[in-house]
Amino acid sequence: MAHSFFGGVHPKGYKELSCQMPITPIYPKTVTICMSQHIGAPCKPLVSIGDRVTVGQKIGDGQGLCAPVHASVSGEVVRIGPRPAPTGTYVESIVIASDGKYTLCPDLQKRESIQGLSPEELISIIREAGITGMGGAGFPTSVKLSSGLGKVDTVLINGAECEPYITSDDRLMQEAPERILRGISVIKTILQPKRTVIGVENNKPQAIAALRQALQGEAELLPLRVRYPQGAEKQLIQAVTGRQVPPGGLPAAVGCAVFNVATCAAICDAVFEGLPLVRRAVTVTGKAIAKPCNLLAPIGTSFEDLVEAAGGFASQPYKIFVGGPMMGIAQHTLEASTIKGNNALTCYSEADRPASVLPYCIRCGKCVEACPMQLMPLFLHKAQVLRDLEALEAEHVMDCIECGSCAYGCPARIPLVQSFRTGKKLLRDAKAKEGKK
Ligand code: SF4
Ligand code: SF4
Repeated sequence: MAHSFFGGVHPKGYKELSCQMPITPIYPKTVTICMSQHIGAPCKPLVSIGDRVTVGQKIGDGQGLCAPVHASVSGEVVRIGPRPAPTGTYVESIVIASDGKYTLCPDLQKRESIQGLSPEELISIIREAGITGMGGAGFPTSVKLSSGLGKVDTVLINGAECEPYITSDDRLMQEAPERILRGISVIKTILQPKRTVIGVENNKPQAIAALRQALQGEAELLPLRVRYPQGAEKQLIQAVTGRQVPPGGLPAAVGCAVFNVATCAAICDAVFEGLPLVRRAVTVTGKAIAKPCNLLAPIGTSFEDLVEAAGGFASQPYKIFVGGPMMGIAQHTLEASTIKGNNALTCYSEADRPASVLPYCIRCGKCVEACPMQLMPLFLHKAQVLRDLEALEAEHVMDCIECGSCAYGCPARIPLVQSFRTGKKLLRDAKAKEGKK
């Protein structure tokens, strides 16, 4: 029986819009590969305009906390420069015009087995494949693995997919459980945990059945109660093990490491097929989309191409999020392109516009009850509005996991997550300035 976590909400799932749609490949004419797809230092381009590239060829890399990026189509580099990114900023990117042939890089090396490979060698393969956390966080997986060596007794595989609308992990678990389990076997070989648990919310019975059939003793399968944000790292750890990650701490502090199911499948592709992270399943959904679906999209596919592949807009979208509506980032245009952590494009229609909104905070306390991190969102927001750095720190803004549970029930519809992202940036910038003095 799973433990539980504090707070949380029960938003309507809307998963029925796309959960029956198999993951279907698309073949865009161009891709835009962003040089900053992960937490850490951005990559520097390794190619020039006019170069011919092949699928899986490394085209960007950097030093320190960094994950390389690779060509996701074969073709010609036609542009290098700042392009719109899903974060809403312009980021250095490489644009490749596809030749439609998807020729694989000749250097890619397949492996039948990992016997004889050391943990360090496996971590190096994962690093060179550019794998980052695919649940959204974008932390380089090789760094997570190397920092967990000798510290982790429990590996958690995250198949919760608690965010409304998104079904890409659900479909992956149904369609490719063997890839996930082969990836898990690599992680286990590296970290040597005592316990490995796959957590899946129990609203995905087909995924649970598919994993159960493929398991072969590789891991325990734990159906979880449906509650948002069950899939957030700290909440999943608490729900499965009862352990609480201390404020500001990492999962390794309580002997845990968490990997998304899509990350496991990417590790399988890298280690056994020799294929770097060049594509991923993306759910394109929402009431404004004509044919909600799950697409296997090369990294760097434009949002415009995703919408077109989903039959276009059924109606004028009211709001577009990359990701889901709780943790996603609102987009003003469809110009940006997918990065490794993008699992969905959710398009709200006018029907989703809230009917009436209170003009200001009425101190109802709903946000406090909902916060799984036991923060005081109303005071955090006030501190951000006043640019009060001391109060932001005292209210632990950096512990906010940006889950959106507070904003979900707020009768004033205050954009709390956006407010806390701004608050974190204010604090980070102030600390960086202090460090330079
Ligand atoms: S839920 Fe909204 S209105 Fe209620 S206290 Fe929190 S911020 Fe204020
Ligand atoms: S304050 Fe942060 S962690 Fe708490 S509910 Fe809001 S977004 Fe989630």
